[in-house]
Amino acid sequence: MYIVQITPELAPVAKVGGLADVVFGLSRELQLRGHTVEIVLPKYDCLRYDHVWGLHVCYQDLWVPWWGGRVHCSVWYGEVHGRKCYFIEPHHQENYFHRGHFYGSNDDHLRFAFFSRAAMEFLYKSGKHPEVIHCHDWQTGLVPVFLYEIYQHLGMWHPRVVFTAHNFKHQGVTGEYLLWATELGRPEYYFHTDRLRDDHNPHAINMMKGGIVYSNFVTTVSPNHAWEAKSGQGHGLEHTLHVHEGKYGGVVNGVDYDVWNPEVDGYIPHRYGIYNVEEKYRNKRALRDRLWIADNAKPIVAYVGRLDDQKGLDLIRHALFYSIGHDAQFVVLGSAPDPRIGHDWWNLKQHLNNNQDCHIELGFNEELSHLIYAGADLVVVPSKFEPCGLTQLVSMRYGTVPVVRAVGGLADTVFDKDYDWRPLHERNGYVFQHYTGHAMEVTLRRAFSCYWDYPEHFRHLMLNGMRYDYSWNIPGQHYLNIYDYVRDK
Ligand code: ADP
Repeated sequence: MYIVQITPELAPVAKVGGLADVVFGLSRELQLRGHTVEIVLPKYDCLRYDHVWGLHVCYQDLWVPWWGGRVHCSVWYGEVHGRKCYFIEPHHQENYFHRGHFYGSNDDHLRFAFFSRAAMEFLYKSGKHPEVIHCHDWQTGLVPVFLYEIYQHLGMWHPRVVFTAHNFKHQGVTGEYLLWATELGRPEYYFHTDRLRDDHNPHAINMMKGGIVYSNFVTTVSPNHAWEAKSGQGHGLEHTLHVHEGKYGGVVNGVDYDVWNPEVDGYIPHRYGIYNVEEKYRNKRALRDRLWIADNAKPIVAYVGRLDDQKGLDLIRHALFYSIGHDAQFVVLGSAPDPRIGHDWWNLKQHLNNNQDCHIELGFNEELSHLIYAGADLVVVPSKFEPCGLTQLVSMRYGTVPVVRAVGGLADTVFDKDYDWRPLHERNGYVFQHYTGHAMEVTLRRAFSCYWDYPEHFRHLMLNGMRYDYSWNIPGQHYLNIYDYVRDK
């Protein structure tokens, strides 16, 4: 099969969160199974160019319809760890992708609508006829709209579109001007509840809704979250998801075990696996050295992830103080897209600067994240909502026991040591239900007590997590089944 992924993120060259890992891992899995996969993404100035091989211009004169005129673009080709990638670079005074960041500009809606239009124009002009276009999140929600409203009439009969919503919180809700910028025009047609009109603001269009309405299949990143989103956590898209439930489902994300595997991980000083898990403790020492925290017998609890309200910031803070007050250490690696949140965490970092049992590292640091997964004993993921969550899956691979709230994909992948109905050898972490400091504390207390009082049980828990197969093997097959299904539509 010939599949094109259109995406705003790809690990490790343009990574903000899990979406980047998903496109990276899924593409590899599909390639290994013999399918042709190409990835189209913006040529950001802040790409990690050290991970792109053989970058060169492959299509010089792409003219993208925009605001009634044409914007000149170059398309670059390069490989990212074996993945074939096309990077779109507009030559435009707005410098859409020369902003020093991936997201966070006032004109993000325009930037990504432009990218989607340019990606489709590129496929059309370069004569590419993929069987499946798989596009990701609101940034590419207009891709199927362009396909079925414009490019199909120009002869692109072949492709079918799968749209994956990685996070319903961000939908790309904006004004009528976008229709004129992209040259879709016809507001009387698109401002219809069956098309792009936002379900709550009749004067706005919703890019993610476009992705849902127009694509041939819609997925989100876990079955539990697929249900949650339809049943009240869809941030206003519940009705649309109900209307389209016949082509909607959830697939749990996989983890790329070529990258996230303590047996071969080049970012950690001591490799280990199920058979020499003790080596993990040498990484624990290396982590302490690196972060200047005390070397003692205490467990290390970690949080790795975006510092965003979604992630349960008050519970992370609560877990931090509870841990350092109860014979444990706590490590945070997080970046805050919102400067006010960044400021709060910077103050907390200053406040705890001299604490020997705690370290807060602010910023994005892929290399350090590997050492934390390898060196920590427990990872907390107390999210308010979590479509899938990769941190718990990665940490299990590294024998680091997850402590999670039972929402979204966390509930689909972590099973409580004490209370789950599964047999003991299938339990792999600690789970709590209610979004309260008390629930978090009680659960951490259970984990600490197991760590101190029943080290053998704790070790079994680590090994159970390491044995789980959360690779792309199963989800890769699910996506192929979906691609096969839409091909016949
Ligand atoms: P989300 O997609 O909501 O951000 P996920 O748990 O699905 O959350 O994916 C987060 C991914 O990003 C994981 O691979 C995690 O290790 C990584 N990550 C998040 N924040 C950072 C950071 N500050 N430094 C390094 N890696 C990070």
